[in-house]
Amino acid sequence: MPDLAIAPDFPLDSLNTFRIPARARRYLRVDEPGQVAAALADPALAALPRLVLGGGSNLLFTRDFDGLVLHMALAGRAVIGEEHGHTLVRAAAGENWHDFVQWTLAQGLGGLENLSLIPGTVGAAPIQNIGAYGAEIKDVFHALTLFDPDSGAQRVLRGIDCRFGYRDSIFKHADGARLIVLDVTFALPTAWQPNLRYAELAQALAGVDAPTARQVSDAVIAIRRRKLPDPAVIGNAGSFFKNPVVAGEQCARLLESFPNLVHHRQPDGSEKLAAGWLIDQCGWKGRNLGAAGVYPQQALVLVNNGGASGADVVALARAIQRDVYERYGVQLEPEPVFI
Ligand SMILES: Cc1cc2nc3c(=O)[nH]c(=O)nc-3n(C[C@H](O)[C@H](O)[C@H](O)COP(=O)(O)OP(=O)(O)OC[C@H]3O[C@@H](n4cnc5c(N)ncnc54)[C@H](O)[C@@H]3O)c2cc1C
Repeated sequence: MPDLAIAPDFPLDSLNTFRIPARARRYLRVDEPGQVAAALADPALAALPRLVLGGGSNLLFTRDFDGLVLHMALAGRAVIGEEHGHTLVRAAAGENWHDFVQWTLAQGLGGLENLSLIPGTVGAAPIQNIGAYGAEIKDVFHALTLFDPDSGAQRVLRGIDCRFGYRDSIFKHADGARLIVLDVTFALPTAWQPNLRYAELAQALAGVDAPTARQVSDAVIAIRRRKLPDPAVIGNAGSFFKNPVVAGEQCARLLESFPNLVHHRQPDGSEKLAAGWLIDQCGWKGRNLGAAGVYPQQALVLVNNGGASGADVVALARAIQRDVYERYGVQLEPEPVFI
């Protein structure tokens, strides 16, 4: 029987990158997969509302959590084989994402470098199909192992079963929300090619002949350090809103009134609008509402300037949503999970 050191009334302030004060009624640090099954075999614990917590970098606590927090600290990573021109690498859910990316590069394996420096854990990466600089994990995803609380058993999900979309997957919908990711396997191409689709990244490497995966990672890290606040210094959860996707006709109508609108055509003819641009145009960049604010260098990032509550951040987010809707008729959808 694995050790179940369940802590009552546990502070979560240092376990979320927004640094919002909140407490959990019950808390368990999960260091081995058997602890999840053992905890949920206890009827009293299984009956509680449950939050699976990774690095807390995509969450906004709006209140204390009156339930059980399972804090995923499962560790371990390995090269597990070769398949159809790909090297398979597996990491446990609690591994730090960026450390894992750097470890794959140290093994001489490219494929994850565009996703360098994204905070959080490996286990959370599939939840919103993390993406940055022209890449998403769905591009290199192979499979994951999960614990299904309903059956009490583990199972494996392949990419197709995960229903990956833009910042979306099965885990964000009713039929997948209860599933707990234990480890993730990636298929990294043996014949690696740099992905320089993202203009700013291509520009950063313009002088480099045949850049290596390590050089791409270093360039991504440099760009991110320049543009994004470090959560260790200023509380935030990265991009606070998804880039809204609108019909081609709606985009065309908007362009008549706002010719500088930043938009990117999608393969299906819809248009992805730059949420940061919309927020900036509404005058929110660098503005504060109480202790919460909009990061001066990047309007898509909301920050805790010190002492903000979840309610402060929600009030700011609502004010921004209202202004963007009134001006552009576009509804911004938050990216972090509200608890
Ligand atoms: C400065 C900054 C920059 C960022 N940049 C990016 C970016 O470029 N691209 C991007 O996509 N995201 C970005 N993010 C958001 C965030 O880093 C990612 O969403 C990350 O994957 C969250 O990982 P986490 O471990 O912190 O998850 P958490 O915040 O702990 O959890 C997020 C969600 O996943 C669920 N979850 C976590 N672990 C598991 C598990 N093992 N099994 C089941 N469910 C689980 C939680 O219940 C919750 O619903 C950024 C955040 C910050 C602070």
